[in-house]
Amino acid sequence: MKKHIVVQKFGGSSVANIDRIKVVAQRIVESKKRNNNLVVVVSALGDTTDDLETMAFSLNKNPPDREMDLLMSTGEQISSALLAMAIKTLGHDAIAFTGPQVGIKTDKAHTKARVISIESPRIKKAHRDGKIVIVAGYQGLTEDQEITTLGRGGSDLTAVALAVALKAKVCEIYTDVTGIFTTDPRKVKNARKIKTITFEEMLEMASLGAQVMQARSIEVAKRFNMPIHVRSSFSKEEGTMIMKRSSKIEDVAVRGITSNSSEAKVTITSVPDLAGVAAKLFTEVSKKDVNVDLIVQNVSHTGLTDISFTVPQKELSKALSATKEVARKIKAGKVTSDKNIARVSIVGSGMRSHHGIAAKMFATLAKNKVNIDMISSSEISISCIIDEKHVKKATEALHKAFQLDKIK
Ligand code: ADP
Ligand code: ASP
Ligand code: MG
Repeated sequence: MKKHIVVQKFGGSSVANIDRIKVVAQRIVESKKRNNNLVVVVSALGDTTDDLETMAFSLNKNPPDREMDLLMSTGEQISSALLAMAIKTLGHDAIAFTGPQVGIKTDKAHTKARVISIESPRIKKAHRDGKIVIVAGYQGLTEDQEITTLGRGGSDLTAVALAVALKAKVCEIYTDVTGIFTTDPRKVKNARKIKTITFEEMLEMASLGAQVMQARSIEVAKRFNMPIHVRSSFSKEEGTMIMKRSSKIEDVAVRGITSNSSEAKVTITSVPDLAGVAAKLFTEVSKKDVNVDLIVQNVSHTGLTDISFTVPQKELSKALSATKEVARKIKAGKVTSDKNIARVSIVGSGMRSHHGIAAKMFATLAKNKVNIDMISSSEISISCIIDEKHVKKATEALHKAFQLDKIK
């Protein structure tokens, strides 16, 4: 009989300390008894990655990307080695590998590299020898033998990419909540667990701020139709299946609410309303490798207009310097910025067939005296930029208005 492969990933909070590593090792051994071949991807212990980043920035305000990757990838080397040792203590054979050792090849985009291919003869050999394979998440190697990392939350991507490469039956993501919820359960008390969610909806939720899964990992799972089971490493409860089609055809318009407070807004005033001006502005901003997201240009009455756009807060200073330079060249007015903004979004593929969803969202915010600064929408989501201080109130109100606290 053909043996099947299961990939499991344990996040940072699941392996936050030695006791947690022991618990996880025990759990892996139990699943080894049920599954034939296991590949376990592990994140760095607790807040290790954040701590490494803080150390780097305390030494250098603009640390070189190459050395940043060399540094940040070490967290997962520690946890993978410790986990293999813990499993061996339980009388099972395990072997730990770094990302490069299992042939995870990436492009050269340090700190946010893309996986190009995975050639993993060492995993196959270890499985033939009956070993549990532990892989350090979040990292790979370029063709020039440089170590790269896959962007924050990148262990999710390591797990999904390995599951695809090894033709695993399922990719299990073990974390500190029992599944995907209608909104962040740590922020909204009556958030409800979702039994099944489509790749499309999960991708939208992740992109709009639900950090429970890295968005890029969902992109890969969607492309290769790899089912993901998100569940808790602290309990045995069934979690959420992320899959092509939601098994129950539920007629819901809105599946979940997300919020994101990590963006900032840049405004450039009195911009001459001429062809090519916006192109010039955003060309200069993108040359600085800044990801511009939402853009609003006001109607001009006097031949002058204001343009506002959002960028990740981390890229604000680069965005501001590029914008100020363009403002000077095109003789625009002032350039201002605001970090105290938040994006609150509603997501659901049912929006395609339901009417009045946007109106209900705006009315709910208005009733709660939350002013909307900018709006954007996709086929399956609507986002509003609001004052950051209202984000909790807005999320709770929308959660209730779309009756997400009632789903079974
Ligand atoms: P890990 O360390 O396991 O990778 P993360 O911290 O990256 O875990 O992701 C889990 C966290 O995601 C949860 O603790 C929760 O606060 C947050 N989260 C945000 N939105 C959601 C959601 N819709 N459903 C579940 N968790 C969410
Ligand atoms: N340790 C990395 C991070 O904190 C990768 C991960 O946990 O997925 O972003
Ligand atoms: Mg994570």
